[in-house]
Amino acid sequence: MNGNTHHAVTRVAIVTGASKGIGRDIALRLADDGLDVTINSRNAAELEVVAEEIRAKGRKALAFVGDVSDEEVVQSMVEKTVEVLGRLDVMVANAGTAVVSRVVDMSLKDWNYCMDSNLASVMLCYKYAARQMIKQGEGGRILGASSILGKKGGPEVSAYVATKFAIRGLTQCLAIELAPHKITANTYAPGVILTPLTNIDVLDKQYGGTHGAFTKHVCGIAPDGPHSSGDTVASLVSYLAKPEAYFITGQTIVMDGGVVMS
Ligand code: NAP
Repeated sequence: MNGNTHHAVTRVAIVTGASKGIGRDIALRLADDGLDVTINSRNAAELEVVAEEIRAKGRKALAFVGDVSDEEVVQSMVEKTVEVLGRLDVMVANAGTAVVSRVVDMSLKDWNYCMDSNLASVMLCYKYAARQMIKQGEGGRILGASSILGKKGGPEVSAYVATKFAIRGLTQCLAIELAPHKITANTYAPGVILTPLTNIDVLDKQYGGTHGAFTKHVCGIAPDGPHSSGDTVASLVSYLAKPEAYFITGQTIVMDGGVVMS
């Protein structure tokens, strides 16, 4: 014994938007890291497939279906996680969507939809995760999905960009508020990742022909510029979720193949 009296407690994570894309890769990676995981999306059938993949790794999975822009959904997602998996150590507020419109064409309905799905959802996940982690009194890790479009603007995606900038500000405030509780709050900011979100057939053809081409155009990246798959993001989230990452908080960490440097 080395004086470390810690029991081997299984840590528990929630990953929103985990039925596909980056969220799925994060959930599977956290399971590989030994965490039990609640996964969320609005599609029960798709979610159950990912839950089975987690269980096949020998970890517990709770599939929680619901729209995370709804406060009651987020509150009960956290409650159910604690009830079924015992605790909450890591919140990954990953779910998000894109609205494509120029400012001069923007409808308030589309704008509000984007604010609700990308920003209110993250605030709600932060709120209920923080309450639970404070109650547990053992610290925690809170992460949100920003983007390189949370560091610089681009054409036709102002609503999306506004939410991704805002998530950085929200996360900095949370990091300050939660520092006394040893809970860190950070965001990951990917460049172009090949997921269903960036697979926009018609627009991709218009801007160079393949998956990610429109997103690259929006990010100011050439059609043959850098892209990657979700496991590059999952790898960073895996690290930030670990106890040893306790000295990193309030940060937005870009992984984009070198497009935005800080
Ligand atoms: P994706 O492939 O479209 O997957 C999004 C996931 O979120 C799906 O599981 C989706 O399932 C779920 N979802 C969306 N809205 C939801 C809601 N209101 N409530 C619950 N679940 C919801 O997206 P992705 O590319 O993996 O992106 C994940 C996150 O990374 C997003 O926040 C995105 O903005 C950010 N990001 C992505 C990129 C990229 O290049 N892909 C770059 C930077 C940042 P349902 O639709 O079935 O609910």
